[in-house]
Amino acid sequence: LQENSVIAIGTPGRSVVTTCAYCGVGCSFKAEMRGDELVRMVPWKDGKANRGHSCVKGRFAYGYAAHKDRILKPMIREAISDPWREVSWDEAMRFAAGRMRAIQAQHGRQSVGVLTSSRCTNEETYLVQKLTRAVFMNNNTDTCARVCHSPTGYGLGQTFGTSAGTQDFDSVEQTDVVMVIGANPTDGHPVFASRLKKRLRQGAKLIVIDPRRIDLVDGPHVKAAHHLALRPGTNVAVVTAIAHVIVTEKLYDEAFIKTRCDWDEFQDYADFIAAPHHAPEAIEALTGVPATEIRAAARLYAAGGNAAIYYGLGVTEHSQGSTTVIGIANLAMLTGNIGRPGVGVNPLRGQNNVQGSCDMGSFPQDLPGYRHVKNDAVRASFEAAWGVTLDNEPGLRIPNMLDAALDGSFKGLYCQGEDILQSDPDTRHVAAGLAAMDCVIVHDLFLNETANYAHVFFPGSTFLEKEGTFTNAERRINRVRKVMAPRNGFADWEVTQMFANACGANWTYTHPSQIMDEIAALTPTFAGVSYDLLDQVGSVQWPCNAKTPLGTPLMHIDGFVRGKGHFINTEYVATDEKTGPRFPLLLTTGRILSQYNVGAQTRRTENVVWHAEDVLEIHPHDAEVRGIKQGDWVRLASRSGETTLRATLTDRVSPGVVYTTFHHPDTQANVITTDYSDWATNCPEYKVTAVQISASNGP
Ligand code: SF4
Repeated sequence: LQENSVIAIGTPGRSVVTTCAYCGVGCSFKAEMRGDELVRMVPWKDGKANRGHSCVKGRFAYGYAAHKDRILKPMIREAISDPWREVSWDEAMRFAAGRMRAIQAQHGRQSVGVLTSSRCTNEETYLVQKLTRAVFMNNNTDTCARVCHSPTGYGLGQTFGTSAGTQDFDSVEQTDVVMVIGANPTDGHPVFASRLKKRLRQGAKLIVIDPRRIDLVDGPHVKAAHHLALRPGTNVAVVTAIAHVIVTEKLYDEAFIKTRCDWDEFQDYADFIAAPHHAPEAIEALTGVPATEIRAAARLYAAGGNAAIYYGLGVTEHSQGSTTVIGIANLAMLTGNIGRPGVGVNPLRGQNNVQGSCDMGSFPQDLPGYRHVKNDAVRASFEAAWGVTLDNEPGLRIPNMLDAALDGSFKGLYCQGEDILQSDPDTRHVAAGLAAMDCVIVHDLFLNETANYAHVFFPGSTFLEKEGTFTNAERRINRVRKVMAPRNGFADWEVTQMFANACGANWTYTHPSQIMDEIAALTPTFAGVSYDLLDQVGSVQWPCNAKTPLGTPLMHIDGFVRGKGHFINTEYVATDEKTGPRFPLLLTTGRILSQYNVGAQTRRTENVVWHAEDVLEIHPHDAEVRGIKQGDWVRLASRSGETTLRATLTDRVSPGVVYTTFHHPDTQANVITTDYSDWATNCPEYKVTAVQISASNGP
């Protein structure tokens, strides 16, 4: 997969097959090189996730790797008020390790922790969680998946028994009915969106459940059969009402439920769901969705043939995010839409390695492979391999670490590849927590906002500069191959190893393939994965082991991973974030195609000119009553904070709802959002914030 080639302009060069580091589609590319220069990224026709297609980000937005803002030398400082001082890697390691060890000696072993990122490879994530478990001897590890898809892990784990999507992307080609909930694939997952639209053009029917009229609803060549434009925060009410229609109109698949689920449990669930307060008519005023539309959508989903659900952060980033995921799983089980091509429950993962970062044990309760730290047998296998005794109590999540910092019991954090000050909710709380720590180590490409509170900066490497694997939204493990030497001197896995060894470990990995071999030896779902296999077959979807040596495109074919599928009652509970006279509108957020998350990479490439600022979408009626015209500056304020944005008047949003993206630091979207979070996982409720808007003279 490295080859000599003639690059486009006829100059001899070489090309390396690797994987896009942006979204969870996981497109494969040939990086074409002339000497040490990356000439272009060519979508790889043999890439199983993209089959030669790509979007603008993967194709063009790699300029950040060579951007002048990159920090290439380690830096330290005694206090965050001091200037940074460039030092050698040795000195940086000694300083960082000395501080973390001193903190643990004074405040106990639970006083430090780590954060890893869905931007990192599986191997890097594995090492970071190993660092906290086997070196710091606690389970204080978390990942930025906390703030996006942690409810997916919980909800699908509870109902099906495994925390992952059920299908491969190819499955959409056999779908008759597509339900898209809280996702905007055109902007968020463009290459998959193209395949989805192709299927729609072939005649598949589409149901969109989203507060905003996204492109799929009435875009070029596609039109949704039903758009349920619900009020933000009412997902559970709508999904439960769909289940109500399926149960009360007896549209469920009795044979499937009797063989694949527990019939007695189903009957209890059916009694619950049939209650009159779950009927579409009973929730019409609450959700803003006409009951007739909900009934029609439920009938189409249940009786329209192969039906597949695709969902995104508009499902998970709510105070009832986990409940909605459970409700979605209930719908698939009710209708038998699981375990064959064209159906299933498919979380569209935002970042390139959300799936992998969760698989690798970066949550504080799970060892790699979603096995609880309380499981004695599992813990024993890791203890034997790592030569340590492991903590059997779940560790702290990100928000708990920050709370503990404020009460003085948590003092040290190693944060790899995540800018929590920009990406996590309630910016003031994050800043206060970081400021209260004695040692914050940021390991990243750029001096990000979190680094303002750091004492140590380890320069990071880009995906072009390292070996490893990413796991995409369909559980596909793709190889990341080194295209050029790390500009900072070391790949991220090497930096983590140096840090672990400075803290007292004796790790001796010389290549990430050895880390993957260790993952495979300790994780049954990865038992058959190796770099040799990935080089031979291109990619595999886990589970990949002796039973399925070439991976598993479809899950739950003969039975659920947990045995019987588990119906769980889903009762709507209103969020604590309320509108009122002072804050009468609801703000929800999303992404745009040409930018990516907080924009650290895309803002440092040429494509920034295509979307130079975040704007606030306002319904013309809401704008008119406030005297706001197209392009005006508006002040957007919530109970948490305020910011200023330009107005875009559009009926894509309903009256009472406003919408923005969050790609530019000046927007400070998370100054606006609340600190409410999902009841099961603490995933922040980014998608519902009560706000007021008023005319402004600008920032
Ligand atoms: Fe990269 Fe996603 Fe675009 Fe594919 S669709 S090129 S993975 S950003």
